[in-house]
Amino acid sequence: MVTPAEFVKAAEEFLEKVKIALTLRAPFLLPLFRRIPVAVCPQLRTMAVTDTGILLIGLEILYKSFGELFEDVNHELVHVILGHHIRGKTKKHEGVWNVAADCPDNEFLKACGFRVKNAVTAETISRLLKEGGIDIPPDEIRKYSAETIYRLLLRAGYPKKGMPCAKPVGVPIPIGAPEKGGGARQCPGAGQHVSVTIEPGQIPCTLEDALTEKPKSGQPVHLDLWFVQGGDPKFWEAMNERDERERFKKFQEWARRAMDEVMAFARRAGTGPLGALRMLMELVLKPKLSWADKLAGLVSHHFGSMRTVNPYKPHRRYPHFPAYRRRGIKVWALVDTSGSIGEKELLQALSEIYGIASECGGTIIVVPWDADVYEAMEVTDPEQVAFEVAKKMKGGGGTVIKPVLKWLVERLGETDLVVIFTDGFIFDLDDKPDPETVSLLKRILGTCTNSPVFVTWEKKPKALPNGFVVYHVGVNVPESPEALVPA
Ligand SMILES: [Zn+2]
Repeated sequence: MVTPAEFVKAAEEFLEKVKIALTLRAPFLLPLFRRIPVAVCPQLRTMAVTDTGILLIGLEILYKSFGELFEDVNHELVHVILGHHIRGKTKKHEGVWNVAADCPDNEFLKACGFRVKNAVTAETISRLLKEGGIDIPPDEIRKYSAETIYRLLLRAGYPKKGMPCAKPVGVPIPIGAPEKGGGARQCPGAGQHVSVTIEPGQIPCTLEDALTEKPKSGQPVHLDLWFVQGGDPKFWEAMNERDERERFKKFQEWARRAMDEVMAFARRAGTGPLGALRMLMELVLKPKLSWADKLAGLVSHHFGSMRTVNPYKPHRRYPHFPAYRRRGIKVWALVDTSGSIGEKELLQALSEIYGIASECGGTIIVVPWDADVYEAMEVTDPEQVAFEVAKKMKGGGGTVIKPVLKWLVERLGETDLVVIFTDGFIFDLDDKPDPETVSLLKRILGTCTNSPVFVTWEKKPKALPNGFVVYHVGVNVPESPEALVPA
């Protein structure tokens, strides 16, 4: 029998080894790892992540090889930084969510150059879906968010036999939850012991699988947590936010700050696994325009009904997909992806779309364009912007707006809202204004009852007709690495 003190000591040694291994293999993950709380729990076999983002270490660290454990710990860390522990909160089938969340997690680790053995990847999901009659190639699945994979798995008939068993993500363990009427409890510091009781009806089934002893029916489960790392107080504060939507916002705030450090780190090191860093960047979309107010002004007669939609609540309805319909307006977001648009500008446009998606309960159709029109993407959930749309943006050619306008007017409805994102350097509106392009813009003005919006990060083209609401948005310029080094 191992005593708690021995277990804690083993865990401390393990954390030290993890930090060294991260320094050597993925240093940009180190600042993130330091920020999350870690506790050992002798009642657990495997690792698990609670819904408050605590990494729980089970007895396996005493007998599994460091190589295997290092893989596991990175896997759990990525769940936390991608927010899977809170994004899964409203998912009805936790087992399916755990499998769905494992795919982007492992694909992220692969992009970082890590080996993922016997793990759920895009290939696994593709195979599972195929068995349920849905044929989607792995390369396509790689672009999907955990939410989309979850929905697809449900459509394919899961949970059912043959579904892999994944470790629990976002286990609701009543620790550090705000006390009745009071604020958030302080984060337990390293060395602190916390004992938790979970009532019989409240034991999540995925936790049951991770326990060393199966709980007796009708009996509560006792967990002893010994903290070995306290984590970032800001992280703890975010996780203890009671309101779900507020919690997600605070989490993103935290992730954004942590990411600044990560990016600076990666730049100083000269290189970073670009694919992986881009995946993280997508977590930090930050709109500059306050779309709640803007939309209220733009689409007043619809906004009353839109406002009551909480973008995180509808997740509950996913099991009924695809019958599900949301009320609200349709927004056409036309994004200039021509050669003059850099990654930062594109990210800013996506951030604004994310802002619109968070505030409007309707559907957003994102259409990338340069001199061509690219595949339109339908967004009904703000997380899709961050985790899917960003990966699918195409473009790079010259800037001619006529083709996309032609495409749009054939589809446009009276109650729709049009938002154009561009730097304003549009050939057929500026250098050589084309009467046909101008008349297409006027047709939009005539068709829609809502004023169309023109969001630009550089200029307003000369020939843009009156009636468009123009917003100028600056582009976030990340701090240069030099600025971080004291002179
Ligand atoms: Zn997992």
